[in-house]
This record gives sequence, structure tokens and C-alpha cells, in this order.
Amino acid sequence: MHTSPLHQPGTGDAGGMNVYIVELYRHLAELNIEVEVFTRATEGGLPPSVELHPGVTVRHVQAGPYGGLTKEELPAQLCAFTHGVLGAEAHRHAGYYDLVHSHYWLSGQVGWLTADRWGVPLVHSMHTMAKVKNAHLAEGDRPEPAARVIGESQVVLAADRLVANTAGEARELVEHYDADPARTAVVHPGVNLDLFQPADGRAAARRRLGLPDDAVIPLFAGRIQPLKAPDVLLHAVARLLRDDPELRSRLVVPVVGGPSGSGMDAPDELHKLAARLGICDVVRFQRPVGQQELADWYRAATVLVMPSHSESFGLVAVEAQACGTPVAAARVGGLGVAVRDGVSGVLVDGHDPDRWARALHPFMESPEPPRAMAEAAVRHAGGFGWRAAAEAMARVYTEAVERRARWHALSRGRGGLSVAR
Ligand code: UDP
Repeated sequence: MHTSPLHQPGTGDAGGMNVYIVELYRHLAELNIEVEVFTRATEGGLPPSVELHPGVTVRHVQAGPYGGLTKEELPAQLCAFTHGVLGAEAHRHAGYYDLVHSHYWLSGQVGWLTADRWGVPLVHSMHTMAKVKNAHLAEGDRPEPAARVIGESQVVLAADRLVANTAGEARELVEHYDADPARTAVVHPGVNLDLFQPADGRAAARRRLGLPDDAVIPLFAGRIQPLKAPDVLLHAVARLLRDDPELRSRLVVPVVGGPSGSGMDAPDELHKLAARLGICDVVRFQRPVGQQELADWYRAATVLVMPSHSESFGLVAVEAQACGTPVAAARVGGLGVAVRDGVSGVLVDGHDPDRWARALHPFMESPEPPRAMAEAAVRHAGGFGWRAAAEAMARVYTEAVERRARWHALSRGRGGLSVAR
């Protein structure tokens, strides 16, 4: 409901979830599971439906004004959006849809009602959880509202199956939202290994991007908001330059992405921080780019830096590794799965800039990352193909449909008495 798979990820409300939906459904379609994605129309003149891939159709639902609504204002459009989804189904024969898979709690609310109305199972993916985010807020960041926590709890209770990115996220669902472990499944997201691969190497990628051959390049890529902590990278860079002024002439720090979330409140805050730290000459801000070009930024980098305060998985970390670039990541959420500490990158505890400067220091010696680590990064990322993720998701769907069928059969046998799922 709050973002479309057709939007450019890396800014605003478009990020990993958009990539996840495009890739997951493309691969599910290849397994013969036909998918329709309902999303809110955010521009006038959009066609009612767009074929994303053969077997995957995106349907635009009219719900509220096109522009000017923040994610926080979208709960007021839940009825309108649900009305649009139900209206689309009304033109179909009964039993047209086999299952609803909702993403993020807003769509979860819509999925709850539509799945119930159609008598089909609801599978839900949280993507992020308000309670987890609030427990790891950056200093001064805006907490997620209580209304979201209530909405999430309702969806957790209603879903036939909850899909978590990692075992850790599944535990968080149980601990924070009282989810039923028996109805919680773990499906690791994937990475597009055709797109994200070392290809013709670091030097060629740098030439294409106009980056110096001999530079040391710690890269930040992703949505710019306090939760992702790009400020920690800038502070760490300032520390590294203070300790080794000679580094300045061979350091480039690209920040690829656009403002998002509470980062929209002060979109030039990071530029101002770079100015305050006196590092504007080394930091290069780059608007969000398509994934083809992003792969070159990963290849060009010496290390990808991901100091996030909270991350349900962190696709960027796996994409960079698939391109042969190790990752320095915060030891939070799914990043502990996405990065093999000491093997394909390093995990850093906390967000103290001195600690981050120490963690990045070994990468400052050469434009190339340590060879063994770069090779291990490619191997580690190679374990996260989308085909495997889609197959695992198909199993979750099948279980949910079969369990629902058994439940229907059982409740008929008991004269319509309700039976616990
Ligand atoms: N991304 C992109 N262009 C950019 C920056 C990011 O396409 O300029 C994509 C990136 O490839 C990744 C996604 O945005 O797949 C970010 O996902 P991640 O899980 O790292 O973070 P999220 O946005 O979900 O918080």
C-alpha cells in the first residue's frame, strides 16, 4: 500500500522491500505461481495494470490523493485501498485468488480483511517492526507511533503464516508480538546474482564511474535516514583523516541514495555534517541509481559500510558482497546473517565513531580489499539466490493453503464449529 514495486529504490519509502517484491514474484512466476500486486496509485495517468514480468501484474488502486501523503497519513486511506482491492476481485469468478501475501503492516491490515472475505490464507511479511525499531532508535530519532504497534499486533494475530527474514527476526516476532512460533517461517531474502557479480572488476567499474584508480573507497548505499546511520561513517572518516592526514589525497567516500523516513525532515543534514567535520572534499553525494549502476558502485568500493541501528536483513550488504566487496556492518538484526564476521566482512558493535574508525582502518591501506575477504564475500553472497528464496516461499504458501483446506474440512465435519488454526 505504501510503495510500489515500480518505484526506484534507495529513497523515500522505496527500498529493500520493493526489490524483494520484484525479485520474489519474478521467481515465483517462474515456479508457475501467478501473482497480482496491488499498490496505491501515487501519480495521475497510471495504467490500471502493468505487467512487471510474465505472470506478475501490478494493479494500481485509487486511494486518496496521488501526492502529498506521508506513510504516517496512510492509515486514513486503508478503507479506500481495501475497497479498491475488493472491487478488483469482484470482477473475478469466485475462488480466483488462492492466497494473500501482505507486506508491511499497512498492507497487512488490507490483507487481513481481504483474505478473510475471500476465505483464503493470509501470509504476512513484516519487513520492519515498530517495537524493534523503537528499541534501537538513533539518538533524537522519531519513534514509530503506537498506532503502528497496534496494527502490527492485529496482523500478527490474524496471519496464517508469518514470514521472517532470519531466525533472529522470527524470535523478535515471538518476543515482541507474541507470534505463534508454529505459524512463523524463516525465508532468507535473495540477491540477483546475475546482476550483482564482480564482472570485469574494480578498475573497470571505477573507470565507468569516473573514480580514481588509486583511491580508497568506503561506500555507503541506501536510504538516507538516522536509522541507517550514514553519520557514523562520516564521523569515522573524520577520525581516520585526523589520525592520518596523508589519507585525504587518496580517499573518496560516496554516499549513494536519497532522503527517507525521518531523514526527510532535514534532507541536507548529512551535507551539513560533512561541512562541520571538514570532509566535504572527500564525500561525494550521489542521487539514487538503478541497480545496474549500483552494482558498479559496489564493485568500485574498497568496503561497503553499513552502520545501521536496526536492519531486518540488509540487502545492500549481500549485493555488495556478491560484487566482491567486503562489508563493515553493525552487529544488528539480519546483518549478522548477511555478513560473515571476520570472513566476508566485519561486524562492529555499537555506533561509536572511534570504534568504526578502528574497524575501517585495515581497509584504508589499499584501494583493493583483502583478497581472501573479497573472495569469501562472493562465496557467502552466492548462498542467497532468489530461486531458493522463491522455492522456500512456495513451500510456505502450499502449507498455508493445505492447512486452510484441512481446517475447512474439519470445521464442516464438526457442523461449523470454529476450529483453532
Ligand atoms: N538501492 C537502489 N539504488 C540506490 C540505493 C539502493 O536500487 O541508489 C536498492 C538496493 O539495491 C537494495 C535496496 O535499495 O536492494 C535497499 O535495501 P536494504 O535491505 O539494504 O535496505 P531497506 O531500504 O530495505 O531499508
